[in-house]
Amino acid sequence: MELRELARDVYACLQPDRGLGTSNSGLLNRGGGLVVDTFWDLPHTRQMIDTYARVWKAPARRVVNTHRNGDHCWGHQLFPDAEIIGHRLCAAEFGKERPEFMQTLRNSGSSSDPALAAFARRLADWDFAGIELRPPKTLIDERLTLDLDGIHADLIYVGPAHTAGDLIVHLPAERIVFTGDILFRLCTPIGWEGTYDRWIAALDRIVALAPDVVVPGHGPVCGLEGPREMKAYLQYVRAESKRLFDRGLSAVDAAKRIDLGPYAGWTEPERIVFQVERAYRELRGEPFDAPIDVTPLFGAMHELAREQRH
Ligand SMILES: [Zn+2]
Repeated sequence: MELRELARDVYACLQPDRGLGTSNSGLLNRGGGLVVDTFWDLPHTRQMIDTYARVWKAPARRVVNTHRNGDHCWGHQLFPDAEIIGHRLCAAEFGKERPEFMQTLRNSGSSSDPALAAFARRLADWDFAGIELRPPKTLIDERLTLDLDGIHADLIYVGPAHTAGDLIVHLPAERIVFTGDILFRLCTPIGWEGTYDRWIAALDRIVALAPDVVVPGHGPVCGLEGPREMKAYLQYVRAESKRLFDRGLSAVDAAKRIDLGPYAGWTEPERIVFQVERAYRELRGEPFDAPIDVTPLFGAMHELAREQRH
């Protein structure tokens, strides 16, 4: 884990992108301290706390949760006295993912289902034991502005894009944005409740804020090329999905057919299955928060990853 100083009293804790779950966090080290997102399990969040302890005098008194995915919030309990801040829909959907379920998956390495066994191997670095869900209690609808002893932070709602309750954190004076999973950098995005239009609008919003430094939810710190390239990826996958939808292909067959071109080098390329499925849902006129049957999608991702390796 790397501690990166982005401006005076503003830091990021960056996990190298090893694929699944390796998210980034931020620290505003003034006004009692504010952490943007915790990590996927308690051991990794403890390591994050040790990393921040090199610069803070006491643990942060606030945690801002950019969205509900476990890799951004399953370490919250290690900030037992902190005010946890998030969007109303982040809180409402907080229990959609269950640590005990992930722990069962992690321990199913000897399963006879090859997709399940492969997924379990990818979870081997994580340990979901002992996690208690701590949803945000301070809830945002559109926007909240905080003054942390001179650091002005705007918490801005931009969902439903990656999830229903997506927040970004903007520091106008420092020209920094923490994007949560609105931005995956050099890493293939995966989305849950939301629409293409809203996700693209959220990326446009980040560009319009004109930051010098963008801290993505996953992948290395970047500038405006990050949101611009990801917008181009979303537009490309949506257009290709439409073309293949019109020809009558299934979403899985379409995902296998789309040439990844410049995006083939991004980590987790097989996640395109989820993006194509989202495009198909929109083309069929289904609501943005319709339940996603993930089992066939994970099976298709496993198959696609095997094909991409050959
Ligand atoms: Zn994430």
